[in-house]
Amino acid sequence: MKRKRLVILGSTGSIGLSALKVAHDIPERMEVVGLAANRQAKVLAEQTQTWKPKAIACFDTTQIADLKTQIPSGIPCYGGEEGLIQLATMPEADMVLVAIVGTAGLAPALAAIEAGKDLAVASKEILVMAGEAVMKAAKRKGVKILPVDSEHNAIFQCLQGDQQNQVKRLILTASGGPFRTTSAADIENVTLEQALKHPTWTMGQKITIDSATLFNKGLEMIEAKWLFDVPIQKVDVVVHPQSIVHSFVEFEDGSQLAQLSHSDMCFPIQYAVTYPDRLPNRLRQLRLEEIGSLTFEAPDTVRFPSLNLARLAGEKGGTLPAVFNAANEVAVEKFLARKIKFPQIWRSVEKVMLSHSNIEHPSLESIKQADAWAREQADAVLS
Ligand code: MG
Repeated sequence: MKRKRLVILGSTGSIGLSALKVAHDIPERMEVVGLAANRQAKVLAEQTQTWKPKAIACFDTTQIADLKTQIPSGIPCYGGEEGLIQLATMPEADMVLVAIVGTAGLAPALAAIEAGKDLAVASKEILVMAGEAVMKAAKRKGVKILPVDSEHNAIFQCLQGDQQNQVKRLILTASGGPFRTTSAADIENVTLEQALKHPTWTMGQKITIDSATLFNKGLEMIEAKWLFDVPIQKVDVVVHPQSIVHSFVEFEDGSQLAQLSHSDMCFPIQYAVTYPDRLPNRLRQLRLEEIGSLTFEAPDTVRFPSLNLARLAGEKGGTLPAVFNAANEVAVEKFLARKIKFPQIWRSVEKVMLSHSNIEHPSLESIKQADAWAREQADAVLS
């Protein structure tokens, strides 16, 4: 089998670091040809020394000059969104892993599709905001969209060899986050430190807060709708605190398939890279007898209203999912800066969503406008 040549957008983040671990583990199948970071120039420089990619990019252009002095002279270094697009479309790449936090990955992802690259998607925002446009473009160009989010990767695995059968339900598992058993009254006053303590996954700050509010699961519901082309009514959530079962697919006959492994992003990243092949690796292998028991419970949408907001956004479609996403980003930023209380995250998102005039089948321009509008509104609601 041929080595897959990968560009990693977001190489210094937690997904990016896992992707480099995979590359280290299966060098015969994965080659790193491009690395891009937001602003962690020092880490990017070290990665460039180690991996010797064909090109790199740093979103923060103020660091380019300094960065250039720290990397081998033959490796070009691009900046800004233009730089990310340059990397996403480089002729030496087969696949682009989009693992950038927030909305900055959208333009490079679309550019990669247009350039005929397969996409490994870790940034939910791409499909949440522009799922319709992204999936359409991918179909037109005949490129694959491979999910790296552990839940969607699990569903993708469960669907292999069974694409002729109708899916009855997709069931996303959720760890429940650090406040799974916290009372509604106590949730009012949780601290930033408590919210940043995720029970089973180690991830970036934004997604860790999203896991505490269950907004992460809400974004994943919308993501699933686009990736697997099912109405959001068929996407369910079950809370599974051990994070061993990464999701289920239920078929018409009532049978359910699941994918299980330890919670390590290297598993879904490796599968996306080597798909449809499976390769031995050095990851921790699962022994269910060591785990003992796996438990499941229904999510509580009273304590975690974000799931209902996501369902509403997924049902209405149009620009509402972009609004849901952008308003949440603003609120999480403010919570991380200790400017608002935890429940203000979903309360403000709901307010912004309810005051939005939805546009159906939006153009990319309308999506960007809705995104900007939602940010302004969220800012106004929260200050
Ligand atoms: Mg996930």
